[in-house]
Amino acid sequence: MRIIRSSTIWTAAGLALILGGGLAAIGAQVHPWGALVGGVAAGVVLYVSLRTPYRRWRWAQQGVPESWRRWMQRHVPPYAALDADGRARFEQDVRFLMEEFDFEGVRGVSATEELCLSVAAGAALLLHGHPDWELPGTRSILFYPAHFDDEYSGGRDAGYDGMAHEQGPLIMSAPSVRASWMHPGDGNNVVLHELAHLFDFDNTGPDGVPSFVDSRSAEAWQSLIRTEMRKVERGTSMLDPYAATAPSEFFAVAVEHFFEEPHAMKQQHPELFEAMATLFNWTPTHPSERSEQLADKRSEQSDEAPDEEGTC
Ligand SMILES: [Zn+2]
Repeated sequence: MRIIRSSTIWTAAGLALILGGGLAAIGAQVHPWGALVGGVAAGVVLYVSLRTPYRRWRWAQQGVPESWRRWMQRHVPPYAALDADGRARFEQDVRFLMEEFDFEGVRGVSATEELCLSVAAGAALLLHGHPDWELPGTRSILFYPAHFDDEYSGGRDAGYDGMAHEQGPLIMSAPSVRASWMHPGDGNNVVLHELAHLFDFDNTGPDGVPSFVDSRSAEAWQSLIRTEMRKVERGTSMLDPYAATAPSEFFAVAVEHFFEEPHAMKQQHPELFEAMATLFNWTPTHPSERSEQLADKRSEQSDEAPDEEGTC
């Protein structure tokens, strides 16, 4: 994620110049002070265009609290494995996402800093390899108290632990969000799963071909999905059986395993691993590769979590 894109600068400057200059020229013919109208219009264009970049610049100066850093060190192994520059960029993305997401707890759930950070860290993982990317789709995140059904109610038959909407909020069960990062190497991560769906809501609908797959590669990607889905159906895949239910679910499940078990995926599904690494433009480190180092660091650290009582 960028503080500001060069395209934003050029667009804002061009619009301010054209609109402001035009209005100034017209205003000057009508009234001696009429040119000021153009100046005001240019100012409004620049304010609207540069408001978000200015906010991001402020957040980037402030950095992240040490408690966030410790939590990510403990629970997000790919972050812990990054070098100093990579961590700094990751932390900046997390800060932007924490500020720009609209988090809300539902039916008594408190949107704690830990829950919010769980989502922001997941989004930062998906975006890390492409500094120019922004998360597509909704910024509204709802935390439910437990699993829910098609009517968004809890109960014995409630089977969903998360749901992404093409137009609407992203809903996740709070216990499932916490569980996602308690065991970050088991291949199950509702945060990564639901966020992955956001990349698949594009002009062609949720079809397992995310929006960032270009048209030349789409056919090869779909062919790979079909091959890998057959392995899931035959029970010869490391991916969760849910991946066989639809191409869109295959992509979301593959994202979970890629970021949680990249080493195992590389060993067992090398073609899928390479395709995922190309799509996301980086290779997260397997937790077990760093287990000893992480264990050492964990023993040195207090168990302090982000503010569990405070909300974000
Ligand atoms: Zn899904």
